[in-house]
Amino acid sequence: MTYEPDADNVIIAVHGGAGNKLIRQETTPELEKAHRDGLADALRAGERLLRGGASSVDAVEAAVRVLEDNELFNAGKGSVFTEDGGHELDASIMRGADLAAGAIAGVRNVRNPVLAARMVMEQTAHVLLCGDGAESFAERNGLRPVSQDYFWTQRRLDQLKEAKDPGAPERAEYSTVGAVAVDRDGDLAAATSTGGTTNQMRGRIGDSPIIGAGTYARNDTAAVSATGQGEVFIRGAAAGTISAMIEFGGLSLAEAAFDVVMRRLPALGGTGGVIALDRQGTFAGPHSTPGMLHGYLTMDGEIVTKVFTDEPR
Ligand code: ASP
Repeated sequence: MTYEPDADNVIIAVHGGAGNKLIRQETTPELEKAHRDGLADALRAGERLLRGGASSVDAVEAAVRVLEDNELFNAGKGSVFTEDGGHELDASIMRGADLAAGAIAGVRNVRNPVLAARMVMEQTAHVLLCGDGAESFAERNGLRPVSQDYFWTQRRLDQLKEAKDPGAPERAEYSTVGAVAVDRDGDLAAATSTGGTTNQMRGRIGDSPIIGAGTYARNDTAAVSATGQGEVFIRGAAAGTISAMIEFGGLSLAEAAFDVVMRRLPALGGTGGVIALDRQGTFAGPHSTPGMLHGYLTMDGEIVTKVFTDEPR
């Protein structure tokens, strides 16, 4: 089956998670607008940099940072609660030109994890730092720590209570954030940031900080950022497999993204989605969940956002 891209001429795309939301009938116009504005603000932050000649790494960092500061999304400020009522954040970033990458995992006091992930990429010989070491590295490099209270929101607490209620229906709800971009030089970059999954065990790490699972970027294939059931995205090496299918399998970007998200990951028992972009500006955003909050911005400055489960591709 041939699978068509969602758009062409895209320079930056973002996602705010895959899952069941937003259901049109249950969503107020204000909430719809807040989600669309949140995605658009992130796209514009990246666009401004790209138009000024900045790199795709700068653009994805800026876009993800805007989403991390928006409490609607499960990253930075709006991060979900762990089973013991804490917050543990993960993020990663990758540069498609030379496969440089950086990530942090399980940090409890970093306000913008994507900034720390970039510092790991650019200022260390490592790819992934976790826990205390990642926190002190971020602080040493000028990121002022925040207390766990900074991440507290009533909405996420309600979700934790619901997740702990044995009678409540199980809902596939992911709202991790991510961005992919291509710059003037044709260089790709991808970044992903998350608070993990509601009620996750302390110390649990999902796919978002794992290069090749939640994030991947390679100039001659694709930039990919994922959202969904992290364990399955790790086991299925989701983002890296999309790249490899293009590189070795001769598939188009849209076909590879579709195959991984709609066939391979569901076969492992997991749902979710990705945003994927190639250096020609071809964009695909397949998701096996009913919806995926995402949006893209084209070379002409047109912004398209998708927030409802029933919004057409
Ligand atoms: N993939 C994330 C994780 O498992 C969750 C999400 O996409 O919201 O940590």
